[in-house]
Amino acid sequence: MPHSGPRPFGWQEDRITLHPVEAPLVEKAIVDRVGGKTVRAIAHEWCDLGVTGTRGGRPNAATVTQIMTAPRVCGYRANRGELLLAPETGLPALGRWEAIVPPHRWQAVCATFSAGSLYMHRGSGAPRLNGQRAAPRYLASGFLRCGARRRDGTVCNGPLCGQKARSRRSPYVYTCRDCGRCSISGPLADEVLERLVFSEAPGQVRLPESVHDRWRAGELQLEEKRKIITSVVTRCVVRPGVKGNPSWDYSRVEPVWR
Ligand SMILES: [Zn+2]
Repeated sequence: MPHSGPRPFGWQEDRITLHPVEAPLVEKAIVDRVGGKTVRAIAHEWCDLGVTGTRGGRPNAATVTQIMTAPRVCGYRANRGELLLAPETGLPALGRWEAIVPPHRWQAVCATFSAGSLYMHRGSGAPRLNGQRAAPRYLASGFLRCGARRRDGTVCNGPLCGQKARSRRSPYVYTCRDCGRCSISGPLADEVLERLVFSEAPGQVRLPESVHDRWRAGELQLEEKRKIITSVVTRCVVRPGVKGNPSWDYSRVEPVWR
């Protein structure tokens, strides 16, 4: 169910039904932005049309950005800047409200902004963007690529991004935001990476056992661990899991050695 707070721009007071004037504006803004229009220009247009925010403010680039990139526009749920995932599937959980655009449109508009400026990375309560990229919070962020097939038969190859999940066994997961068809348990992927780097790396990139000892002893910071991974693999392709299979399939992660 939608939460309380001010009415989200684009929806009526019930927070479920689309607003007849605002929703088409948001949709058009998303299409325009993906087509290359600046957010400032969109905000000017809204001002010229006499549009005001749901609390009466004049739209500006920041508010328009926030409206367009809120996961809510495609029906996705989020809390404090984290997409909520359904624990059974690992895919984004849907709210009960009507969506303004389909998920691929929302993903496309999000992709036009740098990571730090996105609602998703900022969270509703976090300070506004400063143009800096947030440091990766998960070990395998940036190393995993989506191995799902698109409808045309080509491999998606989108980056799998880490995010919190509601599962005791997998408190976080890596999910493809391009196609949404590939998701892997965070602890599983991290464990596979560690195993690949220290036990399966070919001779020329194999690391000394002393490094592994320090890793296992918890002496390395996340950034150090990520540098170690970078020295051994360029990326890993993750095959989509089989639905309903609860066991961890280590073979889903295929490394591309440096
Ligand atoms: Zn994908």
